Amino acid sequence: MTTTRPTDRTVLITGGAGFIGSHLANALVDDNEVRILDDLSSGTRATVPEDATLIEGDLRDEATRERATTGVDLIFHEAALVSVQGSVEDPLGSHAINATATLELLEAARREDARVVLASSAAIYGHPEGVPIAETDPKTPASPYGIDKLSVDHYARRYHELYGLETVSLRYFNAYGPGQTAGDYSGVISVFCDQALADEPLTVHGDGGQTRDFVFIDDIVQANLQAATTDQVGGAYNVGTGTSVTIRELAEAIVDVTGSSADITHTEGREGDIRHSRADIAAIRSELGYEPTVSLREGLERTVEWYRQH
Ligand code: NAD
Repeated sequence: MTTTRPTDRTVLITGGAGFIGSHLANALVDDNEVRILDDLSSGTRATVPEDATLIEGDLRDEATRERATTGVDLIFHEAALVSVQGSVEDPLGSHAINATATLELLEAARREDARVVLASSAAIYGHPEGVPIAETDPKTPASPYGIDKLSVDHYARRYHELYGLETVSLRYFNAYGPGQTAGDYSGVISVFCDQALADEPLTVHGDGGQTRDFVFIDDIVQANLQAATTDQVGGAYNVGTGTSVTIRELAEAIVDVTGSSADITHTEGREGDIRHSRADIAAIRSELGYEPTVSLREGLERTVEWYRQH
Protein backbone atom coordinates (compact mmCIF):
# COMPACT_ATOMS: atom_id res chain seq x y z
CA MET A 1 0.00 0.00 0.00
CA THR A 2 1.33 3.46 -0.85
CA THR A 3 0.30 6.63 0.87
CA THR A 4 -0.22 9.43 -1.59
CA ARG A 5 1.03 12.73 -0.19
CA PRO A 6 0.58 16.35 -1.09
CA THR A 7 3.51 18.09 -2.81
CA ASP A 8 4.21 21.69 -3.79
CA ARG A 9 1.26 23.03 -1.84
CA THR A 10 0.92 25.89 0.58
CA VAL A 11 -0.30 24.12 3.67
CA LEU A 12 -1.69 25.50 6.92
CA ILE A 13 -1.69 23.29 10.00
CA THR A 14 -3.69 24.79 12.83
CA GLY A 15 -2.50 23.39 16.15
CA GLY A 16 0.69 22.41 14.34
CA ALA A 17 2.82 22.76 17.47
CA GLY A 18 0.72 20.10 19.22
CA PHE A 19 0.99 16.33 19.24
CA ILE A 20 -0.74 15.35 15.99
CA GLY A 21 -0.08 18.65 14.18
CA SER A 22 3.68 18.50 14.72
CA HIS A 23 3.91 14.97 13.33
CA LEU A 24 1.92 16.12 10.31
CA ALA A 25 4.20 19.12 9.87
CA ASN A 26 7.23 16.84 9.84
CA ALA A 27 5.62 14.61 7.23
CA LEU A 28 4.85 17.57 4.94
CA VAL A 29 7.62 20.08 5.37
CA ASP A 30 10.11 18.65 2.87
CA ASP A 31 7.73 18.79 -0.09
CA ASN A 32 5.45 21.71 0.76
CA GLU A 33 5.43 25.21 2.14
CA VAL A 34 4.14 24.65 5.67
CA ARG A 35 2.60 27.27 7.92
CA ILE A 36 1.62 26.54 11.47
CA LEU A 37 -0.92 28.53 13.42
CA ASP A 38 -0.71 27.80 17.12
CA ASP A 39 -1.23 29.82 20.29
CA LEU A 40 1.15 27.48 22.15
CA SER A 41 -1.50 26.96 24.85
CA SER A 42 -0.61 23.28 24.97
CA GLY A 43 1.78 22.93 22.01
CA THR A 44 5.43 23.92 22.11
CA ARG A 45 7.66 25.86 19.74
CA ALA A 46 10.34 23.17 20.00
CA THR A 47 8.18 20.72 17.98
CA VAL A 48 7.90 23.08 14.99
CA PRO A 49 10.20 21.94 12.14
CA GLU A 50 12.87 24.43 11.17
CA ASP A 51 11.55 24.87 7.64
CA ALA A 52 7.97 25.56 8.72
CA THR A 53 6.69 29.06 9.49
CA LEU A 54 5.13 29.48 12.91
CA ILE A 55 2.38 32.05 13.24
CA GLU A 56 1.95 32.34 16.97
CA GLY A 57 -1.62 33.39 17.62
CA ASP A 58 -5.17 32.44 18.39
CA LEU A 59 -7.43 30.92 15.75
CA ARG A 60 -10.31 32.87 17.29
CA ASP A 61 -8.68 36.15 16.27
CA GLU A 62 -9.84 37.29 12.84
CA ALA A 63 -6.65 39.13 11.83
CA THR A 64 -4.53 36.12 12.82
CA ARG A 65 -6.82 33.79 10.90
CA GLU A 66 -6.61 36.01 7.80
CA ARG A 67 -2.84 36.07 7.97
CA ALA A 68 -2.65 32.31 8.39
CA THR A 69 -5.10 31.42 5.63
CA THR A 70 -4.32 33.90 2.86
CA GLY A 71 -2.87 32.03 -0.10
CA VAL A 72 -3.19 28.50 1.33
CA ASP A 73 -4.51 25.60 -0.72
CA LEU A 74 -4.69 22.94 1.97
CA ILE A 75 -5.61 23.18 5.65
CA PHE A 76 -5.23 20.53 8.34
CA HIS A 77 -7.30 21.73 11.26
CA GLU A 78 -5.94 20.28 14.51
CA ALA A 79 -6.20 23.26 16.90
CA ALA A 80 -8.71 22.60 19.65
CA LEU A 81 -9.37 22.62 23.33
CA VAL A 82 -8.66 18.89 23.56
CA SER A 83 -10.14 18.04 26.91
CA VAL A 84 -13.47 16.40 27.58
CA GLN A 85 -13.25 17.42 31.23
CA GLY A 86 -12.16 20.94 30.27
CA SER A 87 -15.22 21.27 28.05
CA VAL A 88 -17.48 20.18 30.91
CA GLU A 89 -15.95 22.90 33.09
CA ASP A 90 -15.99 25.55 30.35
CA PRO A 91 -18.54 24.74 27.64
CA LEU A 92 -18.43 28.26 26.21
CA GLY A 93 -14.64 28.17 25.95
CA SER A 94 -14.82 24.79 24.22
CA HIS A 95 -17.49 26.03 21.84
CA ALA A 96 -15.53 29.18 20.98
CA ILE A 97 -12.53 27.27 19.65
CA ASN A 98 -13.89 23.82 18.80
CA ALA A 99 -17.03 25.06 17.06
CA THR A 100 -17.17 28.82 16.31
CA ALA A 101 -13.51 29.33 15.34
CA THR A 102 -13.66 26.12 13.29
CA LEU A 103 -16.67 27.42 11.39
CA GLU A 104 -14.81 30.69 10.81
CA LEU A 105 -11.89 28.67 9.47
CA LEU A 106 -14.25 26.90 7.04
CA GLU A 107 -15.36 30.33 5.84
CA ALA A 108 -11.74 31.35 5.29
CA ALA A 109 -11.17 28.10 3.39
CA ARG A 110 -14.18 28.88 1.22
CA ARG A 111 -12.68 32.26 0.38
CA GLU A 112 -9.34 30.63 -0.51
CA ASP A 113 -10.93 27.56 -2.13
CA ALA A 114 -8.64 25.45 0.08
CA ARG A 115 -9.23 21.83 0.98
CA VAL A 116 -9.86 21.25 4.69
CA VAL A 117 -8.98 18.05 6.52
CA LEU A 118 -10.72 18.39 9.85
CA ALA A 119 -9.85 16.67 13.14
CA SER A 120 -13.16 15.23 14.32
CA SER A 121 -13.36 12.69 17.13
CA ALA A 122 -14.81 9.39 18.29
CA ALA A 123 -16.32 11.53 21.08
CA ILE A 124 -19.14 12.41 18.68
CA TYR A 125 -20.58 8.90 19.15
CA GLY A 126 -20.92 9.24 22.93
CA HIS A 127 -21.90 5.94 24.53
CA PRO A 128 -22.10 3.62 21.52
CA GLU A 129 -24.87 1.03 21.28
CA GLY A 130 -22.27 -1.54 20.25
CA VAL A 131 -18.81 -2.00 18.79
CA PRO A 132 -17.32 -1.73 16.24
CA ILE A 133 -18.70 1.77 15.67
CA ALA A 134 -19.55 2.61 12.07
CA GLU A 135 -19.70 6.16 10.72
CA THR A 136 -23.47 5.86 10.29
CA ASP A 137 -24.09 4.81 13.91
CA PRO A 138 -26.11 7.07 16.23
CA LYS A 139 -24.34 10.13 17.56
CA THR A 140 -25.11 11.03 21.13
CA PRO A 141 -22.06 12.98 22.32
CA ALA A 142 -21.73 12.91 26.11
CA SER A 143 -19.77 16.17 26.55
CA PRO A 144 -19.65 19.73 25.19
CA TYR A 145 -16.40 18.69 23.45
CA GLY A 146 -18.23 15.88 21.61
CA ILE A 147 -21.13 18.17 20.72
CA ASP A 148 -18.75 20.79 19.30
CA LYS A 149 -16.86 18.19 17.27
CA LEU A 150 -20.12 16.73 15.94
CA SER A 151 -21.30 20.16 14.91
CA VAL A 152 -18.17 20.92 12.86
CA ASP A 153 -18.12 17.40 11.42
CA HIS A 154 -21.62 18.18 10.08
CA TYR A 155 -20.58 21.63 8.89
CA ALA A 156 -17.63 20.22 6.96
CA ARG A 157 -19.90 17.89 5.04
CA ARG A 158 -22.54 20.53 4.40
CA TYR A 159 -19.88 22.99 3.23
CA HIS A 160 -19.00 20.46 0.57
CA GLU A 161 -22.61 20.04 -0.51
CA LEU A 162 -23.60 23.68 -0.27
CA TYR A 163 -20.48 25.43 -1.52
CA GLY A 164 -18.41 22.73 -3.20
CA LEU A 165 -15.63 23.13 -0.62
CA GLU A 166 -13.35 20.08 -0.51
CA THR A 167 -13.58 18.75 3.04
CA VAL A 168 -12.76 15.46 4.77
CA SER A 169 -13.47 14.86 8.46
CA LEU A 170 -11.34 12.35 10.31
CA ARG A 171 -12.88 10.92 13.46
CA TYR A 172 -9.81 9.94 15.43
CA PHE A 173 -10.17 7.24 18.06
CA ASN A 174 -7.44 7.19 20.77
CA ALA A 175 -4.26 8.54 19.21
CA TYR A 176 -0.92 7.93 20.91
CA GLY A 177 2.78 8.07 20.22
CA PRO A 178 5.98 10.03 20.80
CA GLY A 179 5.38 13.66 21.72
CA GLN A 180 2.01 13.19 23.37
CA THR A 181 1.52 14.78 26.76
CA ALA A 182 -0.75 13.40 29.45
CA GLY A 183 -4.47 14.19 29.69
CA ASP A 184 -7.87 12.43 29.67
CA TYR A 185 -8.11 9.06 27.95
CA SER A 186 -6.31 10.07 24.80
CA GLY A 187 -3.34 10.54 27.12
CA VAL A 188 -3.71 7.36 29.18
CA ILE A 189 -0.70 5.84 27.44
CA SER A 190 1.47 8.83 28.30
CA VAL A 191 0.26 8.74 31.93
CA PHE A 192 1.00 5.01 32.20
CA CYS A 193 4.43 5.44 30.56
CA ASP A 194 5.34 8.20 33.01
CA GLN A 195 4.21 6.06 35.94
CA ALA A 196 5.91 2.88 34.73
CA LEU A 197 9.23 4.60 34.00
CA ALA A 198 9.17 6.16 37.47
CA ASP A 199 8.34 2.74 38.97
CA GLU A 200 5.18 4.25 40.43
CA PRO A 201 1.86 2.38 40.44
CA LEU A 202 -0.13 2.58 37.21
CA THR A 203 -3.55 3.93 38.18
CA VAL A 204 -6.41 2.27 36.32
CA HIS A 205 -9.83 3.89 36.76
CA GLY A 206 -12.49 1.37 37.83
CA ASP A 207 -12.12 -2.33 36.99
CA GLY A 208 -10.02 -1.67 33.89
CA GLY A 209 -12.43 -3.64 31.70
CA GLN A 210 -13.21 -0.57 29.57
CA THR A 211 -11.84 -0.94 26.03
CA ARG A 212 -10.30 1.54 23.60
CA ASP A 213 -9.01 1.52 20.03
CA PHE A 214 -5.50 3.01 20.28
CA VAL A 215 -4.11 4.23 16.99
CA PHE A 216 -0.44 5.07 16.57
CA ILE A 217 0.49 8.54 15.34
CA ASP A 218 2.01 7.27 12.06
CA ASP A 219 -1.38 5.90 11.09
CA ILE A 220 -3.12 9.14 12.07
CA VAL A 221 -0.66 10.95 9.79
CA GLN A 222 -1.25 8.42 7.03
CA ALA A 223 -5.03 9.02 7.21
CA ASN A 224 -4.45 12.77 6.95
CA LEU A 225 -2.19 12.42 3.91
CA GLN A 226 -4.74 10.19 2.18
CA ALA A 227 -7.52 12.66 3.05
CA ALA A 228 -5.46 15.51 1.60
CA THR A 229 -5.07 13.82 -1.76
CA THR A 230 -8.20 11.70 -2.24
CA ASP A 231 -10.93 12.36 -4.83
CA GLN A 232 -13.46 11.20 -2.23
CA VAL A 233 -14.24 14.54 -0.65
CA GLY A 234 -17.21 15.53 1.49
CA GLY A 235 -17.02 12.47 3.75
CA ALA A 236 -16.25 11.65 7.37
CA TYR A 237 -14.18 8.64 8.35
CA ASN A 238 -13.24 6.78 11.50
CA VAL A 239 -9.49 6.58 12.08
CA GLY A 240 -8.57 3.69 14.34
CA THR A 241 -7.15 0.20 14.04
CA GLY A 242 -10.39 -1.78 14.18
CA THR A 243 -9.05 -3.56 17.27
CA SER A 244 -9.21 -2.72 20.95
CA VAL A 245 -7.65 -3.58 24.30
CA THR A 246 -8.87 -3.22 27.85
CA ILE A 247 -7.24 -0.53 29.96
CA ARG A 248 -6.03 -3.26 32.30
CA GLU A 249 -4.33 -5.09 29.39
CA LEU A 250 -2.84 -1.80 28.27
CA ALA A 251 -1.34 -1.20 31.73
CA GLU A 252 0.10 -4.72 31.74
CA ALA A 253 1.60 -4.26 28.28
CA ILE A 254 3.27 -0.99 29.34
CA VAL A 255 4.72 -2.59 32.47
CA ASP A 256 6.06 -5.32 30.21
CA VAL A 257 7.51 -3.03 27.53
CA THR A 258 9.18 -0.74 30.07
CA GLY A 259 10.46 -3.63 32.21
CA SER A 260 9.09 -1.66 35.17
CA SER A 261 8.62 -3.11 38.63
CA ALA A 262 5.54 -0.91 39.14
CA ASP A 263 2.24 -2.35 40.40
CA ILE A 264 -1.10 -1.75 38.76
CA THR A 265 -3.69 -0.26 41.11
CA HIS A 266 -7.37 0.48 40.62
CA THR A 267 -8.94 3.78 41.59
CA GLU A 268 -12.56 4.94 41.61
CA GLY A 269 -14.27 4.55 38.22
CA ARG A 270 -14.90 7.78 36.34
CA GLU A 271 -18.44 9.00 36.11
CA GLY A 272 -19.82 8.87 32.58
CA ASP A 273 -16.86 6.83 31.31
CA ILE A 274 -17.56 5.14 27.99
CA ARG A 275 -17.33 1.37 28.42
CA HIS A 276 -16.36 0.14 24.97
CA SER A 277 -14.92 1.91 21.97
CA ARG A 278 -13.62 0.42 18.74
CA ALA A 279 -13.68 1.81 15.23
CA ASP A 280 -15.18 0.13 12.21
CA ILE A 281 -12.59 1.13 9.60
CA ALA A 282 -14.18 -0.48 6.52
CA ALA A 283 -15.10 2.90 4.97
CA ILE A 284 -11.69 4.57 5.26
CA ARG A 285 -10.06 1.36 4.05
CA SER A 286 -12.12 1.08 0.91
CA GLU A 287 -12.55 4.79 0.11
CA LEU A 288 -9.21 6.30 1.12
CA GLY A 289 -6.98 3.21 0.94
CA TYR A 290 -6.03 3.59 4.61
CA GLU A 291 -4.51 0.59 6.36
CA PRO A 292 -3.21 0.61 9.96
CA THR A 293 0.46 -0.32 9.90
CA VAL A 294 1.67 -0.18 13.51
CA SER A 295 0.64 -2.82 16.05
CA LEU A 296 -0.01 -1.81 19.66
CA ARG A 297 3.14 -3.61 20.77
CA GLU A 298 5.36 -1.82 18.27
CA GLY A 299 3.66 1.50 18.93
CA LEU A 300 4.17 1.11 22.68
CA GLU A 301 7.83 0.24 22.18
CA ARG A 302 8.39 3.34 20.07
CA THR A 303 6.44 5.51 22.50
CA VAL A 304 8.27 4.19 25.57
CA GLU A 305 11.59 4.78 23.84
CA TRP A 306 10.62 8.40 23.34
CA TYR A 307 9.56 8.83 26.98
CA ARG A 308 12.84 7.35 28.12
CA GLN A 309 14.68 10.03 26.19
CA HIS A 310 12.51 12.94 27.32
P1 NAD B 1 -2.77 18.93 21.23
O1 NAD B 1 -3.34 19.63 22.42
O2 NAD B 1 -1.42 18.33 21.32
O3 NAD B 1 -2.78 19.93 19.99
C1 NAD B 1 -3.70 20.99 19.86
C2 NAD B 1 -2.90 22.24 19.49
O4 NAD B 1 -3.81 23.33 19.28
C3 NAD B 1 -1.93 22.70 20.59
O5 NAD B 1 -0.63 22.88 20.03
C4 NAD B 1 -2.50 24.00 21.09
O6 NAD B 1 -1.49 24.90 21.54
C5 NAD B 1 -3.26 24.50 19.87
N1 NAD B 1 -4.36 25.39 20.17
C6 NAD B 1 -5.34 25.24 21.10
N2 NAD B 1 -6.18 26.27 21.07
C7 NAD B 1 -5.77 27.10 20.09
C8 NAD B 1 -6.23 28.35 19.58
N3 NAD B 1 -7.32 28.94 20.09
N4 NAD B 1 -5.56 28.93 18.56
C9 NAD B 1 -4.45 28.34 18.04
N5 NAD B 1 -3.96 27.17 18.49
C10 NAD B 1 -4.61 26.55 19.50
O7 NAD B 1 -3.84 17.84 20.79
P2 NAD B 1 -3.75 16.66 19.72
O8 NAD B 1 -3.86 15.39 20.46
O9 NAD B 1 -2.63 16.87 18.79
O10 NAD B 1 -5.13 16.86 18.95
C11 NAD B 1 -5.22 17.40 17.65
C12 NAD B 1 -6.67 17.37 17.19
O11 NAD B 1 -7.13 16.02 17.16
C13 NAD B 1 -7.64 18.13 18.07
O12 NAD B 1 -8.58 18.79 17.26
C14 NAD B 1 -8.32 17.03 18.87
O13 NAD B 1 -9.61 17.42 19.29
C15 NAD B 1 -8.35 15.91 17.87
N6 NAD B 1 -8.43 14.58 18.48
C16 NAD B 1 -7.35 14.08 19.15
C17 NAD B 1 -7.43 12.79 19.70
C18 NAD B 1 -6.28 12.18 20.41
O14 NAD B 1 -6.39 11.02 20.80
N7 NAD B 1 -5.16 12.87 20.59
C19 NAD B 1 -8.62 12.04 19.55
C20 NAD B 1 -9.68 12.60 18.87
C21 NAD B 1 -9.57 13.85 18.31
